[in-house]
Amino acid sequence: MAWPLRATKQLTHDDYTVAWICALPHEKAAARNMLDELHKSPPQPEHDKNIYTFGSICGHNVVIVCQGDAGTTVAATVATRMDGTFRRLRFGLLVGIAGGVPEKEDIRLGDVVISKRDGFSGGVVAHDHGKVTSEGLQSTPFLNGVPEVLRNAFNELSSRLMDEDCKIPIYIAEATARNPRFQHFHHPSLQDNLFKINYTHEGQGDGNCENCKKDSEHLVARTPRLTSSPVVHFGTIASGNHVIKDSTERAKIAAAHHGILAIEMEAAGLMNVFGCATIRGICDYADSHKNDDWQNYAAATAAACAKEVIGIIPVTSLASK
Ligand SMILES: [Zn+2]
Repeated sequence: MAWPLRATKQLTHDDYTVAWICALPHEKAAARNMLDELHKSPPQPEHDKNIYTFGSICGHNVVIVCQGDAGTTVAATVATRMDGTFRRLRFGLLVGIAGGVPEKEDIRLGDVVISKRDGFSGGVVAHDHGKVTSEGLQSTPFLNGVPEVLRNAFNELSSRLMDEDCKIPIYIAEATARNPRFQHFHHPSLQDNLFKINYTHEGQGDGNCENCKKDSEHLVARTPRLTSSPVVHFGTIASGNHVIKDSTERAKIAAAHHGILAIEMEAAGLMNVFGCATIRGICDYADSHKNDDWQNYAAATAAACAKEVIGIIPVTSLASK
């Protein structure tokens, strides 16, 4: 079965104003399925080794790149090359999966967290860099500004979500109608279990928790949601170079910078290259029970949310640069 979109027109690098950056193959697949149009690739400068996918979303010309490896250093290299090839990028969206930090907000698997500035940071903090103080490690905030156009789009989305549903399920359904293989990115038929801190995964390796106790003593009691639609949260995202698989460590990171909602591995490398924000689908709770079962769905919810954000931004505000 051929991929449902055929590349039509070919534009120049200068026509692309939105950078969509991801790290993992399934994040790239989710991104690609959010395109409204696929474009032919323009000839690329020889020194730029990135592989790009070109297309449009809600009228904006978007270039997608998958950095091929997790980690903040690789992210910085990819973004620097991109910044050299594309001279008219207005902003970047770093879109992918992350571990949820359910200490402050009721975060569920498949929910989306958008990095939003607070009084302390621009929305992202590096949890593995910082000053050691008497209260523990004080993480490094990234103070560079998220571009105004993105901040405005986040505020608009936040306002819309007060009295209407997000478009995430619609965009996932549209992508699946066009490409039936996208059903591998749907909500898995699995229980979303949040285990209590200090209850360590039972069994070998990254299992599916079949040996873990799911009673009130071991599970956090949470009210079932009335809707299966993911919830979009706005807050601070912690970024670092190693995977967090321990609820005690997660709680420590949450305590070191109050208000963290998710932990991921790329944003810290990008925040100093060009103006970007990160949009993250929650695929686990950064604890010992973490496994890969929710990764496709979380990649899809983040990608669909990124499409919703792009759709809010008027096309003219970018074209007029
Ligand atoms: Zn488990």
